[in-house]
Amino acid sequence: MEAVKRNVLLNPGPATTTDTVKYAQVVPDICPREEEFAGLMKNLRSDLLKVVHAPADQYTSVLFCGSGTINIDICVNSLLPEGKKILVVNNGAYNSRAVEVCQMYHLPHIDLRFSVYEQPRLADVEQALKENPDIAVVYCCHHETGTGVLNPIREIGAMAHHYGAIFITDTTASLGMIPLDVVKDNVDFCMASAQKGLMAMSGLSFIIGRKDIIEASKDYPTRSYYCNLYMQYAYFEKTGEMHFTPPVQTIYATIQALKEYFEEGETAKFARHRAVYEAIHDGIDRLGLKTAIDRRIESGLVVSVKYPDNPNWDFKKVHDYCYERGFTIYPGKISTTDTFRLCALGKIYPQDIKDFFVVLEQALKHYHII
Ligand SMILES: *Cc1c(COP(=O)(O)O)cnc(C)c1O
Repeated sequence: MEAVKRNVLLNPGPATTTDTVKYAQVVPDICPREEEFAGLMKNLRSDLLKVVHAPADQYTSVLFCGSGTINIDICVNSLLPEGKKILVVNNGAYNSRAVEVCQMYHLPHIDLRFSVYEQPRLADVEQALKENPDIAVVYCCHHETGTGVLNPIREIGAMAHHYGAIFITDTTASLGMIPLDVVKDNVDFCMASAQKGLMAMSGLSFIIGRKDIIEASKDYPTRSYYCNLYMQYAYFEKTGEMHFTPPVQTIYATIQALKEYFEEGETAKFARHRAVYEAIHDGIDRLGLKTAIDRRIESGLVVSVKYPDNPNWDFKKVHDYCYERGFTIYPGKISTTDTFRLCALGKIYPQDIKDFFVVLEQALKHYHII
């Protein structure tokens, strides 16, 4: 197996992958309607449950072909009963995406907004639940990738349940990186795509959720044809296959990535991401850069760095300098603050971050920014 040029991706996904995952996609052509392929998906679905410690008698995983946003669309449009409301606990861009889905499908919803620099205030969430007994679904992103803020999903989930609502959380940027236990964390539905925490390829997304709720949703109003949770679930149950063409090669890559996930282990992987994150903060401090979010509420996976206050700063030039040397950084505006992001996703190590900061320092000196 020939080594593939290794790029260190510090953007918020897709992430740096291993060569074994890349090469797992090179397989003999196969029709995905073969039993052999259905068998692969069956194992994949049950392995996904293990990643979030979901008991197989209560939870299922449903696969979709699409980027992570398809999960947001599907959960929001499929799980709202007639005449009920969805409460979106919103402190960032990815929660706003769920609000946009509600708007697009004309769903009754409450956009409960908080500062993007802070975690949502639980008292406000509770008040909204108290005042609106018709809320059937509470939605909140776990790790807001746009800022790096980690939200208190366990508490929000408990509150949702206390008021008789189900809890959906977008775990696209935390699943497989921050330990999640759907039962203890009060999660009815979570979601991710293969190219983030699992370090596979893009094109495969999945929702892990409560079977009884999916089955009940059979009688909810249908709002989409392609993006309907019950329809895809029922098709899997009946045939073991995706309703429509699956992302065949990405599925092979994800199977390999899950094998490597279990080999590395949840605790060790979490510790590795943490160590990468610490190395990012060390480098930022060393160069005198400033961050936008209070460290105490950061996920430990994404750091938002403020643009240096210097007339010579030009994100594109610095990006290109780093990119040519194998490191990718990613821009992102938080409210009115211009930032770029350094992320600890992917198969990378603290040494990669040390190497990156050597290059970043060179870039900043080259363009007379420091
Ligand atoms: C990446 C990401 C998504 C999905 O984005 P796509 O561009 O559709 O892959 C959804 N939610 C969060 C929190 C994410 O980080």
